[in-house]
Amino acid sequence: MPATVRARIALLLCASLATPALLAQANCGAPTPRDGEGPFYSPGAPRRASLAEAGAKGERMILSGTVYSRDCRPLANALLDFWQADEKGEYDNAGFRYRGQLTADANGRYRLETVLPGEYPGRPRHIHVKVQAPGGRALTTQIYFGDSGAPARLTAKLAKREGALQAGFDFVLQ
Ligand code: FE
Repeated sequence: MPATVRARIALLLCASLATPALLAQANCGAPTPRDGEGPFYSPGAPRRASLAEAGAKGERMILSGTVYSRDCRPLANALLDFWQADEKGEYDNAGFRYRGQLTADANGRYRLETVLPGEYPGRPRHIHVKVQAPGGRALTTQIYFGDSGAPARLTAKLAKREGALQAGFDFVLQ
């Protein structure tokens, strides 16, 4: 086989392997840092896997990943409670728009459909979340999307696929 063909095959293999790697986080040993709850948490958000409203103008985004224990074992059935600003950067403090809870599956995987939150003054864009494994303590933190001022350790891996922004973020609980 000519070297150029071999090189091309190697490149294709690398490209197909690189996609999931891009969405996974390499370091699952260090616990995910806590971040501020902020003033807008409302308990009792509905159970749902999609926060995107009909006719939402924000960029469609799929946020997904795995919830791990400190020793890198996937944690089944962790509860994830998300809240975020809408595309205009506003929180719904009367109802539950852009708020929802879902449960990770038996392999610790979760998947949330939503829109990229809008910016509001003084903050890089972020989604708030509380993550709690059955019988464990809740971790309250925020996931960021690479704006300036966003903490690297809490920034999702971003890729564009099938017309939606794919944001990958794994949690490591204490
Ligand atoms: Fe906020």
